[in-house]
Amino acid sequence: MRVVLVLIDGARSDVLRDLLARGDLPNLSRWVIEPGGLRTGTTVFPSTTGVAYIPFLFGRYPGSVGIPGIRWLDRRGAAEGKGSRAQWRAARSYCGVQGGWLNTDIAATPSIFDLVPESIAICTPLTRGLRAGANRCALRRVVLGSAAHYLGTYPALDRAVARAWLGAADEPWRFLFVVFPGVDGISHLKDPLHPAVLESYRLVDRALGAFVARLRKQRSELPAFFVVSDHGMTVMREHADPAVLLERRGVRTLRHPVHVWRRGARVATMVSGNASVQLYFEPRSGRERPLTESEIPNAILEQLLALPAVRLVACRADSTGGIIVRTENARASLTESMGLIRYEPQSGDPLGLGAYLELDDRELLTRTRETDVPDAPRQLLQLFGTPRAGDLVLAATPGADFRGPWEMPEHRAGHGSLIAEHMEVPIAASVALPDVGLRTVDLMPTVLERLDVAVPSGVALDGVPFSKLAAVTEHLIR
Ligand SMILES: [Zn+2]
Repeated sequence: MRVVLVLIDGARSDVLRDLLARGDLPNLSRWVIEPGGLRTGTTVFPSTTGVAYIPFLFGRYPGSVGIPGIRWLDRRGAAEGKGSRAQWRAARSYCGVQGGWLNTDIAATPSIFDLVPESIAICTPLTRGLRAGANRCALRRVVLGSAAHYLGTYPALDRAVARAWLGAADEPWRFLFVVFPGVDGISHLKDPLHPAVLESYRLVDRALGAFVARLRKQRSELPAFFVVSDHGMTVMREHADPAVLLERRGVRTLRHPVHVWRRGARVATMVSGNASVQLYFEPRSGRERPLTESEIPNAILEQLLALPAVRLVACRADSTGGIIVRTENARASLTESMGLIRYEPQSGDPLGLGAYLELDDRELLTRTRETDVPDAPRQLLQLFGTPRAGDLVLAATPGADFRGPWEMPEHRAGHGSLIAEHMEVPIAASVALPDVGLRTVDLMPTVLERLDVAVPSGVALDGVPFSKLAAVTEHLIR
Protein backbone atom coordinates (compact mmCIF):
# COMPACT_ATOMS: atom_id res chain seq x y z
CA MET A 1 0.00 0.00 0.00
CA ARG A 2 1.27 3.45 -0.95
CA VAL A 3 0.08 6.97 -0.13
CA VAL A 4 0.41 10.33 -1.92
CA LEU A 5 -0.30 13.47 0.13
CA VAL A 6 -0.70 16.57 -2.04
CA LEU A 7 -0.65 19.92 -0.23
CA ILE A 8 -2.04 22.83 -2.25
CA ASP A 9 -0.71 25.63 -0.10
CA GLY A 10 -3.41 28.18 0.71
CA ALA A 11 -6.21 26.38 -1.20
CA ARG A 12 -9.61 27.53 -0.02
CA SER A 13 -12.30 24.93 0.48
CA ASP A 14 -15.01 27.05 -1.19
CA VAL A 15 -12.84 27.88 -4.21
CA LEU A 16 -11.90 24.24 -4.68
CA ARG A 17 -15.59 23.24 -4.53
CA ASP A 18 -16.55 25.94 -7.07
CA LEU A 19 -13.88 24.73 -9.49
CA LEU A 20 -15.00 21.12 -9.01
CA ALA A 21 -18.61 22.08 -9.69
CA ARG A 22 -17.55 23.81 -12.91
CA GLY A 23 -15.71 20.67 -14.02
CA ASP A 24 -12.36 22.45 -13.86
CA LEU A 25 -10.66 19.78 -11.71
CA PRO A 26 -11.60 16.54 -13.53
CA ASN A 27 -8.68 14.50 -12.21
CA LEU A 28 -9.24 15.42 -8.58
CA SER A 29 -12.87 14.53 -9.11
CA ARG A 30 -12.25 11.22 -10.93
CA TRP A 31 -9.27 9.76 -9.03
CA VAL A 32 -9.74 11.15 -5.53
CA ILE A 33 -13.22 12.38 -4.67
CA GLU A 34 -15.31 9.79 -6.58
CA PRO A 35 -13.75 6.77 -4.86
CA GLY A 36 -13.39 8.66 -1.55
CA GLY A 37 -14.80 12.04 -0.66
CA LEU A 38 -14.28 15.71 0.15
CA ARG A 39 -14.77 17.43 3.51
CA THR A 40 -14.05 20.84 4.91
CA GLY A 41 -11.73 20.36 7.86
CA THR A 42 -9.84 22.74 10.11
CA THR A 43 -6.16 23.59 10.39
CA VAL A 44 -4.10 24.85 13.33
CA PHE A 45 -3.54 28.29 14.83
CA PRO A 46 -1.57 30.25 13.69
CA SER A 47 -2.95 29.19 10.31
CA THR A 48 0.24 29.86 8.43
CA THR A 49 2.56 28.10 5.97
CA GLY A 50 5.26 25.92 7.54
CA VAL A 51 3.71 25.96 11.01
CA ALA A 52 0.52 24.48 9.56
CA TYR A 53 2.55 21.73 7.81
CA ILE A 54 3.56 20.29 11.21
CA PRO A 55 0.25 18.42 11.74
CA PHE A 56 0.56 16.65 8.37
CA LEU A 57 4.13 15.50 8.93
CA PHE A 58 4.33 15.05 12.71
CA GLY A 59 0.71 14.36 13.69
CA ARG A 60 1.13 17.02 16.39
CA TYR A 61 -0.05 20.55 16.96
CA PRO A 62 2.62 23.22 16.53
CA GLY A 63 2.32 24.18 20.22
CA SER A 64 2.89 20.53 21.23
CA VAL A 65 6.30 20.56 19.54
CA GLY A 66 7.43 24.05 20.57
CA ILE A 67 6.61 26.07 17.43
CA PRO A 68 4.27 28.95 18.33
CA GLY A 69 4.40 30.68 14.96
CA ILE A 70 6.35 31.42 11.84
CA ARG A 71 7.93 34.22 13.88
CA TRP A 72 8.52 34.04 17.64
CA LEU A 73 10.88 35.36 20.24
CA ASP A 74 13.43 33.17 21.98
CA ARG A 75 13.19 34.92 25.36
CA ARG A 76 16.42 33.45 26.73
CA GLY A 77 18.34 34.15 23.52
CA ALA A 78 17.14 37.76 23.50
CA ALA A 79 18.17 38.30 27.13
CA GLU A 80 21.56 36.62 27.02
CA GLY A 81 22.49 37.46 23.47
CA LYS A 82 25.21 40.06 23.32
CA GLY A 83 25.74 41.46 19.87
CA SER A 84 23.66 41.88 16.78
CA ARG A 85 23.93 38.30 15.54
CA ALA A 86 22.55 36.89 18.80
CA GLN A 87 19.63 39.35 18.70
CA TRP A 88 18.92 38.39 15.11
CA ARG A 89 18.94 34.70 16.08
CA ALA A 90 16.59 35.27 19.02
CA ALA A 91 14.00 36.99 16.81
CA ARG A 92 13.05 33.80 15.01
CA SER A 93 11.57 34.04 11.52
CA TYR A 94 11.16 31.03 9.26
CA CYS A 95 10.24 33.37 6.39
CA GLY A 96 13.80 34.05 5.28
CA VAL A 97 17.27 32.61 5.76
CA GLN A 98 16.32 31.08 9.14
CA GLY A 99 13.73 28.93 7.31
CA GLY A 100 15.64 25.69 7.80
CA TRP A 101 15.72 26.18 11.58
CA LEU A 102 12.08 25.11 11.66
CA ASN A 103 13.40 21.55 11.35
CA THR A 104 15.73 21.84 14.34
CA ASP A 105 13.39 23.93 16.53
CA ILE A 106 10.68 21.24 16.48
CA ALA A 107 10.86 19.08 19.62
CA ALA A 108 12.32 15.57 19.37
CA THR A 109 9.49 13.47 17.96
CA PRO A 110 9.43 11.31 14.83
CA SER A 111 8.22 12.77 11.56
CA ILE A 112 6.34 10.66 9.06
CA PHE A 113 9.59 10.56 7.07
CA ASP A 114 11.30 8.91 10.08
CA LEU A 115 8.51 6.35 10.39
CA VAL A 116 8.27 5.67 6.63
CA PRO A 117 11.87 5.67 5.40
CA GLU A 118 10.70 4.99 1.82
CA SER A 119 9.44 8.59 1.55
CA ILE A 120 9.99 11.20 -1.14
CA ALA A 121 9.06 14.87 -0.57
CA ILE A 122 8.81 17.58 -3.21
CA CYS A 123 9.15 21.28 -2.36
CA THR A 124 8.72 21.02 1.40
CA PRO A 125 10.15 23.39 4.02
CA LEU A 126 9.92 20.56 6.57
CA THR A 127 12.46 17.90 5.73
CA ARG A 128 13.32 16.25 9.03
CA GLY A 129 13.76 12.51 8.68
CA LEU A 130 14.03 12.47 4.88
CA ARG A 131 16.76 10.17 3.61
CA ALA A 132 19.55 11.43 1.35
CA GLY A 133 18.20 12.22 -2.11
CA ALA A 134 14.55 12.15 -0.98
CA ASN A 135 14.21 15.93 -0.64
CA ARG A 136 13.31 17.00 -4.17
CA CYS A 137 13.15 20.53 -5.62
CA ALA A 138 15.02 21.80 -2.54
CA LEU A 139 17.22 24.24 -4.45
CA ARG A 140 14.41 25.28 -6.79
CA ARG A 141 12.22 25.91 -3.77
CA VAL A 142 14.77 28.39 -2.44
CA VAL A 143 15.80 30.04 -5.72
CA LEU A 144 12.51 30.01 -7.64
CA GLY A 145 10.58 30.49 -4.40
CA SER A 146 12.32 33.70 -3.39
CA ALA A 147 12.14 35.09 -6.93
CA ALA A 148 8.43 34.23 -7.00
CA HIS A 149 7.89 35.94 -3.64
CA TYR A 150 8.80 39.28 -5.23
CA LEU A 151 7.99 38.73 -8.90
CA GLY A 152 4.99 36.42 -8.68
CA THR A 153 6.60 33.77 -10.89
CA TYR A 154 4.98 30.90 -8.98
CA PRO A 155 3.80 28.98 -12.06
CA ALA A 156 7.47 28.19 -12.86
CA LEU A 157 7.91 26.71 -9.40
CA ASP A 158 4.62 24.77 -9.57
CA ARG A 159 5.61 23.36 -12.98
CA ALA A 160 8.94 22.21 -11.50
CA VAL A 161 7.00 20.45 -8.72
CA ALA A 162 4.72 18.80 -11.29
CA ARG A 163 7.75 17.53 -13.24
CA ALA A 164 9.42 16.17 -10.10
CA TRP A 165 6.15 14.48 -9.11
CA LEU A 166 5.85 12.79 -12.49
CA GLY A 167 9.51 11.78 -12.31
CA ALA A 168 8.92 10.12 -8.93
CA ALA A 169 6.19 7.90 -10.41
CA ASP A 170 8.80 5.44 -11.65
CA GLU A 171 10.64 5.19 -8.35
CA PRO A 172 10.13 2.93 -5.36
CA TRP A 173 8.44 4.84 -2.51
CA ARG A 174 5.70 4.24 -0.01
CA PHE A 175 4.89 7.84 0.96
CA LEU A 176 5.05 10.78 -1.43
CA PHE A 177 4.55 14.34 -0.12
CA VAL A 178 4.00 16.92 -2.86
CA VAL A 179 3.69 20.66 -2.14
CA PHE A 180 2.37 23.23 -4.62
CA PRO A 181 3.15 26.76 -3.33
CA GLY A 182 1.50 28.72 -6.18
CA VAL A 183 -2.05 29.22 -4.87
CA ASP A 184 -0.75 30.74 -1.62
CA GLY A 185 1.96 32.81 -3.27
CA ILE A 186 -0.14 34.33 -6.04
CA SER A 187 -3.08 34.94 -3.66
CA HIS A 188 -0.81 37.02 -1.40
CA LEU A 189 0.19 39.23 -4.33
CA LYS A 190 -3.25 39.48 -5.99
CA ASP A 191 -6.33 37.96 -4.35
CA PRO A 192 -7.63 34.44 -3.62
CA LEU A 193 -10.08 34.53 -6.56
CA HIS A 194 -7.73 36.02 -9.15
CA PRO A 195 -7.72 34.13 -12.50
CA ALA A 196 -4.00 33.36 -12.04
CA VAL A 197 -4.81 31.74 -8.68
CA LEU A 198 -7.62 29.64 -10.19
CA GLU A 199 -5.20 28.57 -12.91
CA SER A 200 -2.83 27.32 -10.18
CA TYR A 201 -5.56 24.95 -8.91
CA ARG A 202 -5.97 23.67 -12.49
CA LEU A 203 -2.21 23.19 -12.82
CA VAL A 204 -2.28 20.89 -9.77
CA ASP A 205 -5.18 18.97 -11.28
CA ARG A 206 -3.31 18.46 -14.57
CA ALA A 207 -0.24 17.30 -12.65
CA LEU A 208 -2.41 14.76 -10.80
CA GLY A 209 -3.81 13.56 -14.13
CA ALA A 210 -0.33 13.12 -15.60
CA PHE A 211 0.86 11.23 -12.52
CA VAL A 212 -2.13 8.85 -12.57
CA ALA A 213 -1.72 8.29 -16.35
CA ARG A 214 1.93 7.36 -15.80
CA LEU A 215 1.06 4.83 -13.09
CA ARG A 216 -1.75 3.33 -15.18
CA LYS A 217 0.57 2.97 -18.15
CA GLN A 218 2.95 1.01 -15.93
CA ARG A 219 -0.06 -1.02 -14.76
CA SER A 220 0.87 -0.03 -11.20
CA GLU A 221 -1.84 -0.10 -8.58
CA LEU A 222 -2.98 3.42 -7.75
CA PRO A 223 -1.89 4.70 -4.32
CA ALA A 224 -4.28 6.23 -1.80
CA PHE A 225 -4.50 9.97 -2.49
CA PHE A 226 -5.01 12.73 0.06
CA VAL A 227 -5.32 16.29 -1.26
CA VAL A 228 -5.30 19.00 1.39
CA SER A 229 -4.43 22.57 2.22
CA ASP A 230 -2.72 24.18 5.19
CA HIS A 231 -4.96 27.25 5.59
CA GLY A 232 -7.56 29.41 3.86
CA MET A 233 -7.04 32.97 2.76
CA THR A 234 -8.87 36.34 2.64
CA VAL A 235 -8.40 39.68 0.93
CA MET A 236 -6.74 42.22 3.23
CA ARG A 237 -8.18 45.71 3.26
CA GLU A 238 -6.54 46.95 6.45
CA HIS A 239 -2.96 46.57 7.69
CA ALA A 240 -3.17 47.35 11.42
CA ASP A 241 0.40 46.98 12.59
CA PRO A 242 0.60 46.88 16.43
CA ALA A 243 4.34 47.64 16.22
CA VAL A 244 3.66 50.90 14.39
CA LEU A 245 0.81 51.74 16.77
CA LEU A 246 2.95 51.13 19.86
CA GLU A 247 5.92 53.09 18.50
CA ARG A 248 3.58 56.00 17.83
CA ARG A 249 2.64 55.93 21.53
CA GLY A 250 6.30 55.95 22.54
CA VAL A 251 6.62 52.21 23.24
CA ARG A 252 9.80 50.97 21.59
CA THR A 253 8.97 47.81 19.69
CA LEU A 254 11.07 45.03 18.26
CA ARG A 255 9.82 43.64 14.95
CA HIS A 256 10.96 42.06 11.69
CA PRO A 257 12.76 42.57 9.44
CA VAL A 258 15.19 45.32 10.50
CA HIS A 259 13.83 46.40 13.88
CA VAL A 260 15.02 43.19 15.57
CA TRP A 261 17.92 45.30 16.86
CA ARG A 262 15.62 48.02 18.30
CA ARG A 263 17.39 49.53 21.32
CA GLY A 264 15.46 49.67 24.60
CA ALA A 265 12.59 47.62 23.15
CA ARG A 266 9.74 47.20 25.63
CA VAL A 267 7.68 44.89 23.44
CA ALA A 268 8.41 42.43 20.63
CA THR A 269 5.71 41.79 18.01
CA MET A 270 5.98 38.50 16.16
CA VAL A 271 3.56 38.22 13.24
CA SER A 272 2.35 34.98 11.63
CA GLY A 273 0.50 34.86 8.45
CA ASN A 274 -0.01 38.02 8.75
CA ALA A 275 -3.39 37.88 10.52
CA SER A 276 -2.09 36.83 13.93
CA VAL A 277 0.54 38.38 16.16
CA GLN A 278 2.15 37.45 19.46
CA LEU A 279 3.49 40.09 21.84
CA TYR A 280 6.39 39.51 24.21
CA PHE A 281 6.80 42.19 26.89
CA GLU A 282 10.23 43.38 28.12
CA PRO A 283 11.83 41.09 25.54
CA ARG A 284 15.39 41.40 26.86
CA SER A 285 14.59 41.33 30.57
CA GLY A 286 15.96 37.82 31.07
CA ARG A 287 12.55 36.64 32.23
CA GLU A 288 11.91 33.27 30.63
CA ARG A 289 8.52 32.71 32.26
CA PRO A 290 5.67 34.01 30.11
CA LEU A 291 3.41 36.65 31.68
CA THR A 292 -0.09 35.93 32.93
CA GLU A 293 -3.12 38.19 32.53
CA SER A 294 -2.60 40.58 35.47
CA GLU A 295 1.08 41.10 34.59
CA ILE A 296 0.34 42.33 31.07
CA PRO A 297 0.42 46.15 30.80
CA ASN A 298 -3.25 47.05 30.89
CA ALA A 299 -3.00 50.26 28.87
CA ILE A 300 -1.49 48.36 25.94
CA LEU A 301 -4.02 45.54 26.26
CA GLU A 302 -6.96 47.97 26.20
CA GLN A 303 -5.54 49.81 23.16
CA LEU A 304 -5.21 46.56 21.25
CA LEU A 305 -8.68 45.34 22.25
CA ALA A 306 -10.14 48.55 20.87
CA LEU A 307 -8.68 47.99 17.39
CA PRO A 308 -11.38 47.04 14.85
CA ALA A 309 -8.81 44.70 13.27
CA VAL A 310 -8.77 42.48 16.38
CA ARG A 311 -11.22 39.55 16.53
CA LEU A 312 -9.91 38.32 19.86
CA VAL A 313 -7.02 38.49 22.28
CA ALA A 314 -5.80 35.59 24.41
CA CYS A 315 -3.31 35.18 27.24
CA ARG A 316 -2.48 32.83 30.09
CA ALA A 317 -4.79 32.99 33.13
CA ASP A 318 -3.30 34.00 36.49
CA SER A 319 -4.11 30.94 38.56
CA THR A 320 -6.08 28.22 36.80
CA GLY A 321 -3.41 27.20 34.33
CA GLY A 322 -5.95 27.98 31.64
CA ILE A 323 -6.39 30.73 29.10
CA ILE A 324 -8.29 34.00 29.07
CA VAL A 325 -10.02 34.98 25.83
CA ARG A 326 -11.11 38.60 25.44
CA THR A 327 -12.78 40.90 23.00
CA GLU A 328 -13.51 44.55 23.73
CA ASN A 329 -16.73 43.67 25.57
CA ALA A 330 -16.41 40.01 26.45
CA ARG A 331 -14.22 37.75 28.55
CA ALA A 332 -14.10 33.99 29.10
CA SER A 333 -11.75 31.37 30.42
CA LEU A 334 -10.70 28.10 28.84
CA THR A 335 -9.37 25.23 30.92
CA GLU A 336 -8.78 21.55 30.31
CA SER A 337 -8.71 18.68 32.76
CA MET A 338 -9.65 15.01 32.87
CA GLY A 339 -10.26 14.93 29.13
CA LEU A 340 -12.79 17.78 29.18
CA ILE A 341 -12.48 21.36 27.98
CA ARG A 342 -14.36 24.02 29.91
CA TYR A 343 -15.46 27.30 28.33
CA GLU A 344 -16.56 29.70 31.03
CA PRO A 345 -17.82 33.13 29.93
CA GLN A 346 -17.45 35.77 32.65
CA SER A 347 -18.98 38.54 30.57
CA GLY A 348 -20.33 38.31 27.04
CA ASP A 349 -19.43 35.34 24.86
CA PRO A 350 -16.09 35.94 23.06
CA LEU A 351 -16.11 32.64 21.15
CA GLY A 352 -19.81 32.80 20.24
CA LEU A 353 -20.59 29.42 21.83
CA GLY A 354 -23.73 30.59 23.61
CA ALA A 355 -22.96 29.75 27.23
CA TYR A 356 -20.89 27.69 29.66
CA LEU A 357 -19.74 24.44 28.07
CA GLU A 358 -17.90 21.44 29.38
CA LEU A 359 -17.25 19.01 26.57
CA ASP A 360 -14.96 16.36 25.23
CA ASP A 361 -12.45 17.62 22.64
CA ARG A 362 -14.24 16.20 19.58
CA GLU A 363 -17.71 17.28 20.74
CA LEU A 364 -16.41 20.79 21.28
CA LEU A 365 -14.86 20.76 17.80
CA THR A 366 -18.31 19.96 16.39
CA ARG A 367 -19.92 22.79 18.39
CA THR A 368 -17.33 25.36 17.36
CA ARG A 369 -17.64 24.57 13.65
CA GLU A 370 -20.84 26.60 13.63
CA THR A 371 -19.07 29.68 14.99
CA ASP A 372 -16.87 32.25 13.22
CA VAL A 373 -13.78 30.81 14.99
CA PRO A 374 -13.89 27.04 14.43
CA ASP A 375 -11.86 24.89 16.85
CA ALA A 376 -10.73 28.02 18.73
CA PRO A 377 -10.69 26.41 22.23
CA ARG A 378 -8.43 23.51 21.23
CA GLN A 379 -6.25 25.74 19.06
CA LEU A 380 -5.67 28.32 21.80
CA LEU A 381 -4.92 25.56 24.32
CA GLN A 382 -2.40 23.90 22.01
CA LEU A 383 -0.68 27.20 21.19
CA PHE A 384 -0.20 28.15 24.84
CA GLY A 385 1.03 24.60 25.44
CA THR A 386 4.47 25.89 24.53
CA PRO A 387 6.22 28.40 26.82
CA ARG A 388 7.67 29.87 23.61
CA ALA A 389 4.27 31.39 22.76
CA GLY A 390 3.97 35.13 23.35
CA ASP A 391 2.52 36.75 26.48
CA LEU A 392 -0.41 37.99 24.42
CA VAL A 393 -1.86 36.58 21.20
CA LEU A 394 -4.06 38.50 18.76
CA ALA A 395 -6.22 37.02 16.00
CA ALA A 396 -7.50 39.36 13.28
CA THR A 397 -11.01 39.91 11.95
CA PRO A 398 -11.74 39.08 8.28
CA GLY A 399 -10.07 41.65 6.02
CA ALA A 400 -7.39 42.77 8.46
CA ASP A 401 -3.82 41.79 9.22
CA PHE A 402 -1.04 42.93 11.53
CA ARG A 403 1.82 44.01 9.28
CA GLY A 404 2.04 47.57 8.09
CA PRO A 405 1.76 48.79 4.52
CA TRP A 406 5.59 49.04 4.67
CA GLU A 407 5.85 45.33 3.93
CA MET A 408 7.52 44.47 0.60
CA PRO A 409 5.76 43.16 -1.36
CA GLU A 410 2.44 44.26 0.11
CA HIS A 411 0.23 41.31 1.12
CA ARG A 412 -3.09 41.90 -0.64
CA ALA A 413 -4.41 38.66 0.82
CA GLY A 414 -3.39 36.61 3.81
CA HIS A 415 -4.15 34.14 6.59
CA GLY A 416 -2.95 33.29 10.07
CA SER A 417 -6.03 34.07 12.15
CA LEU A 418 -8.55 31.86 13.97
CA ILE A 419 -11.43 32.97 11.74
CA ALA A 420 -13.28 30.36 9.67
CA GLU A 421 -12.02 31.84 6.39
CA HIS A 422 -8.46 31.02 7.48
CA MET A 423 -9.06 27.87 9.56
CA GLU A 424 -11.20 25.96 7.07
CA VAL A 425 -9.35 23.75 4.59
CA PRO A 426 -10.36 21.16 2.01
CA ILE A 427 -9.58 17.54 2.86
CA ALA A 428 -10.08 15.27 -0.15
CA ALA A 429 -9.20 11.58 -0.07
CA SER A 430 -9.54 8.58 -2.34
CA VAL A 431 -10.47 6.55 0.76
CA ALA A 432 -13.63 6.76 2.88
CA LEU A 433 -13.95 9.92 4.97
CA PRO A 434 -16.03 9.93 8.16
CA ASP A 435 -18.81 12.48 8.32
CA VAL A 436 -17.43 14.33 11.34
CA GLY A 437 -15.26 17.36 11.99
CA LEU A 438 -11.77 16.58 10.69
CA ARG A 439 -8.55 18.31 11.61
CA THR A 440 -5.39 18.41 9.54
CA VAL A 441 -3.63 16.76 12.50
CA ASP A 442 -5.73 13.62 11.84
CA LEU A 443 -4.04 13.09 8.46
CA MET A 444 -0.73 11.63 9.65
CA PRO A 445 -2.25 8.88 11.84
CA THR A 446 -4.62 8.10 8.96
CA VAL A 447 -1.74 7.83 6.48
CA LEU A 448 0.27 5.64 8.89
CA GLU A 449 -2.73 3.35 9.27
CA ARG A 450 -3.05 3.03 5.47
CA LEU A 451 0.64 2.16 5.28
CA ASP A 452 0.29 -0.30 8.15
CA VAL A 453 3.02 1.53 10.08
CA ALA A 454 2.60 1.50 13.86
CA VAL A 455 3.10 4.62 15.94
CA PRO A 456 6.11 3.83 18.16
CA SER A 457 5.32 3.28 21.82
CA GLY A 458 5.97 6.42 23.83
CA VAL A 459 4.89 8.66 20.93
CA ALA A 460 1.50 10.31 21.52
CA LEU A 461 0.01 11.91 18.42
CA ASP A 462 -2.52 14.74 18.71
CA GLY A 463 -4.52 13.47 15.74
CA VAL A 464 -6.89 10.51 15.44
CA PRO A 465 -7.05 8.23 12.38
CA PHE A 466 -10.22 8.66 10.32
CA SER A 467 -11.20 5.03 11.02
CA LYS A 468 -11.38 5.70 14.76
CA LEU A 469 -13.22 9.02 14.26
CA ALA A 470 -16.10 7.19 12.63
CA ALA A 471 -16.40 5.07 15.77
CA VAL A 472 -16.36 8.20 17.92
CA THR A 473 -19.33 9.61 15.99
CA GLU A 474 -21.34 6.43 16.37
CA HIS A 475 -20.69 6.64 20.08
CA LEU A 476 -21.90 10.27 20.14
CA ILE A 477 -25.07 9.43 18.23
CA ARG A 478 -25.87 6.58 20.59
ZN1 LIG B 1 0.51 28.19 3.40
